[in-house]
Amino acid sequence: MRRPNEDTLRHQGLRNKLIDQLRVKGIQDEQVLAAMSRVPRHFFMDAGFDELAYLDRSFPIEADQTISHPYTVAYQTQLLGVKKHEKVLEVGTGSAYQSAVLAELGVRVHTIERQRKLYDQVQAFGWLKKSYPFVKFFYGDGYAGLPKFAPFDKILITAGAPQVPIELMQQLKVGGVAVVPVGEGESQRMYRIVRASESQLEQQVLEEFQFVPMLQGKSL
Ligand code: SAH
Repeated sequence: MRRPNEDTLRHQGLRNKLIDQLRVKGIQDEQVLAAMSRVPRHFFMDAGFDELAYLDRSFPIEADQTISHPYTVAYQTQLLGVKKHEKVLEVGTGSAYQSAVLAELGVRVHTIERQRKLYDQVQAFGWLKKSYPFVKFFYGDGYAGLPKFAPFDKILITAGAPQVPIELMQQLKVGGVAVVPVGEGESQRMYRIVRASESQLEQQVLEEFQFVPMLQGKSL
């Protein structure tokens, strides 16, 4: 993949317009918007998409996957409500755009991807690793999570899960929050889950979105 490596004034202008659109669409968390205004989304896509990167659209990345809509990234990040220094598990690294937005918010990101090709691509992505040295990347199955690094303050799933992955929720701290798109068909409902006690999850069912499916196991 050919990566753009220049963040021009034009890119910054387009990015600011996108941030204004997100505000109009209802994103209110100024910290999330500021973080997104600092991440050059076009760096995470093929250079062929350079002119389109600041539209509120999803785009194809390798391995038949997609980089989520900016609105979806903003919505999920806002809903997660992270605080600086929190430990966050992200399932579905994909392009690593969402990981970068979380890193901009000062959290310790642990992100896991089941597609070898995408994981390898991110490993080779020098700018990203230099800019966000505290993001840890893993190749594996998000359903298994990262027991060695658990418990997490927050868990963010960026693929559509057929149902809430209950076992994974055990890796959440008591009082911790998970954001999970749930549904098997064309669209998913966003769930905000709070681990209210050792044995109790409280869930809130929110807006409808479209995600690629959360699949089990690793893929070569
Ligand atoms: N956060 C990404 C969104 C990528 S789309 C971004 O900002 O670009 C969702 C990603 O979830 C895909 O890359 C897909 O391969 C990955 N995925 C699907 N099921 C998974 C699983 N069980 N474990 C880890 N990653 C998974």
